[in-house]
Amino acid sequence: MHLVSKPVARPLTPSQRAERTTSTAFGSAFTEHLVSVRWSEERGWHEAELRPYEPLVLDPATVGLHYGQVVFEGLKAFRSHTGSVGVFRPDAHARRMRASARRLMMPEPPEELFLAAVDALVAQDQQWIPDDPAMSLYLRPLLFASERTLALRPAREYRFLLMAFVTEGYFGPAQRPVRVQVTETYSRAAAGGTGAAKCAGNYAGSLLPQAEAQEQGFDQVVWLDPVERRWVEELGGMNLFFVYGSGRDARLVTPPLSGSLLAGVTRDALLRLAPALGVPAAEEPMSLEEWRRGCAGGELTEVFACGTAARITPVGEVGTADGTWTIGDGTTGEVTTRLSDALFGIQRGELPDRWSWMR
Ligand code: PMP
Repeated sequence: MHLVSKPVARPLTPSQRAERTTSTAFGSAFTEHLVSVRWSEERGWHEAELRPYEPLVLDPATVGLHYGQVVFEGLKAFRSHTGSVGVFRPDAHARRMRASARRLMMPEPPEELFLAAVDALVAQDQQWIPDDPAMSLYLRPLLFASERTLALRPAREYRFLLMAFVTEGYFGPAQRPVRVQVTETYSRAAAGGTGAAKCAGNYAGSLLPQAEAQEQGFDQVVWLDPVERRWVEELGGMNLFFVYGSGRDARLVTPPLSGSLLAGVTRDALLRLAPALGVPAAEEPMSLEEWRRGCAGGELTEVFACGTAARITPVGEVGTADGTWTIGDGTTGEVTTRLSDALFGIQRGELPDRWSWMR
């Protein structure tokens, strides 16, 4: 399908653009364009356009607003030290969006369509990415049911949008260690539910627990498995890695894909990158009890969270109903730093990209 390009008539000047990108709040400085594609039962994918970023006109009975047939993705474009722009693993994000769409009975955007949209938007708006290595362009693909109906059945019309904004690290540029709170009251996902899909409802349900954690001085909620409430799963927008030992003896553990946690693209990258740096990495269940004991005994030396928005974020402290404990000395560990530098080096084009992750 051909993507029709209708760029804005009068783009912002470089200085106007710079002004708009000094706002560092996540998801606030949108670029000038977006890609829009429609899907209908009769026509399949059609009307693919790159066009000015502007408000949508939606019927009040747009069914996705009512019953939540909404899935999305999040990926990043980086400026390399040579000035060129690369997108991190867009093919993996396309596949995950297809899997999310399948779970919610939505049409699966073909990988070629997803990649063409990413290429077109990045080519058009790449001047927005500042030279500052802490900044990148966050790309947000969204798919929602756009049919005008309130019938509770899979919609017969959908809309795919791709928009972008300039961002830095989710917790600010310094990647300070975060404090996390384990919730034994709430669940993010149900057994057999939609936890493995990147659908809007998962995020709406996490807002109240997140707000309560923040009121108590924590940055993020740790989700346990929804059945036994015993196994650690992930954070609200990040996967977790545990480091045992240190130096040459360090090894990594991350919870396996249980069906209720999201298969992070960063998680998958680290499972391959770490062994290449001499740090074995395994997918193994991690209980809350083991986390506590490991820190008390000193075998568990570092914990970090990872995701597109958060990059690699060290975890310094854990709070539970029974008390709080510190991981290591509460500062950013050596393995965390090494992995973060290696991943960021690939994303910035400074280190060899042996898995061809950058497009
Ligand atoms: N878990 C959840 C619930 C998320 O929303 C995200 C962000 N997409 C992640 C993990 C990390 O995934 P990724 O590395 O693909 O950004």
